[in-house]
Amino acid sequence: MRTFKISKSAFLKGLQCPKALYLKKYHPELEDEVSAAQQAVFDTGHSVGDLAKQLFPGGTDLDAYIPDNLGAVFYETKKLVSRKQVIYEAGFAYDNNLCFSDILVPEGNKWRVFEVKASTSVKDVYLWDAAFQYYLITQSGLEVEDISIVYINNQYERIGGLDISQLFTIESVMEHVLELQDEMKKHLNDLKSMLASGREPAIDIGPHCTDPYPCSFMGHCWQHVPDYSVFNISRLTSDKKFELYRNGILEITDITDGYGLTSGQRLQVDAEKNGNTVINRDAIRNFLNKLNYPLYFLDFETMNPAIPLFDHSRPYQQIPFQYSLHIRKVPGNELTHKEFLAGTDDDPRIPFIEQLINDLGTTGDILVYNKAFEETRLREIARDFPEYAKLIENILARVVDLMVIFSGRHYYTPDMRGSYSIKHVLPALVPGFGYDDLEIADGGTASNAFESLYYEKDPEKINKIRTDLLAYCKMDTLAMVEILNELEKVV
Ligand code: SF4
Repeated sequence: MRTFKISKSAFLKGLQCPKALYLKKYHPELEDEVSAAQQAVFDTGHSVGDLAKQLFPGGTDLDAYIPDNLGAVFYETKKLVSRKQVIYEAGFAYDNNLCFSDILVPEGNKWRVFEVKASTSVKDVYLWDAAFQYYLITQSGLEVEDISIVYINNQYERIGGLDISQLFTIESVMEHVLELQDEMKKHLNDLKSMLASGREPAIDIGPHCTDPYPCSFMGHCWQHVPDYSVFNISRLTSDKKFELYRNGILEITDITDGYGLTSGQRLQVDAEKNGNTVINRDAIRNFLNKLNYPLYFLDFETMNPAIPLFDHSRPYQQIPFQYSLHIRKVPGNELTHKEFLAGTDDDPRIPFIEQLINDLGTTGDILVYNKAFEETRLREIARDFPEYAKLIENILARVVDLMVIFSGRHYYTPDMRGSYSIKHVLPALVPGFGYDDLEIADGGTASNAFESLYYEKDPEKINKIRTDLLAYCKMDTLAMVEILNELEKVV
């Protein structure tokens, strides 16, 4: 009978889905590769964790021993515990279970435990995380006075140097942890028995595949689900998607006419069944007739660092660093293009808004795709830099959302696959025109690429990233131009 060590992350994986833990231990080769977006989330977690250590300075950090020299972590932990010192990444092992605690602080003969999260609230899964740690720490002979989650206070506004005590919120979860002990031990024993049996749990896909985290075995378990399926029906609740799935309906074309759907969902299903394109020419004509030239096609790129980098910014605030602007003076006229991409030596928002105000002139509609995003960024700049508020108000009064044609289903083709994102609408309306050839092809990658410029030293790499960013943002506004051209054609 094989025995397995259960780490805290393995326990949490098994808690989400025992099959995921089974696959991790018996078939790790089936695990999905870590995507760049996931890696960025992990990296954020590490930098937030490092920063939180400053809340309890002067400790000894055992992180360097993990994961290659766990023996040293446990040995050093014992030594430091006996000396009653602050420890970062203290290691505990008991009964083939192991965990590493972010921050351990002595208090008399007892200890305070702090688990750091890059999130902005205490989630249920953190309680299980803390409950598992509490069990191992106390079984290792330490008396725990309190256990807390340290998370990010998104109300903190940076002014001057970073104020660590304001940036983080510390919330005790001791009461919950004590309540969860029996249940946690039962789950742990069940998971160990399951692993010892060597039998794969018969668990089908379900809402648990993404809650609380996207499972790393979705590539394996979801392979029978087609690329485009009932799971892609726009705004259909998760419950209804899995209801269809459990009734053996995966293909959209298998949904019966009587099945309860909203009108937008029904349009998507019917279009898939009969291959029809739906065009509401009156609504499109009405939209086009109201446009005021010159037309400005505008798109922003932003980053949202967990730790605020600039004065007058908050954790995870979206900071615009780039825009692309195509301008058409009169209908049918040639386009001119303007763009902005910030350097990394200062707050990008000031040069961004100054050039934008200048480039946008004072008349003509400003077309964006999903105006809530651009409008919110502009309002945030007006809030944080009130000297621009008046000029920003003028810009806001001119913003028009091109997306309403597609979110309102005034133009729908089956190729849009239920989505009204510009990444789906563009190739559906203008075949052959898309983002496939671009090195940076989505906003998340653009954001990570720009943040990487703060650390990159190689001039060639910097140049390449900046070129790719400019190409991507330019494509977004060119896409809007092409979409508008297509709308003009159909009416
Ligand atoms: S993809 Fe879903 S069913 Fe498969 S292991 Fe993960 S959580 Fe379990």
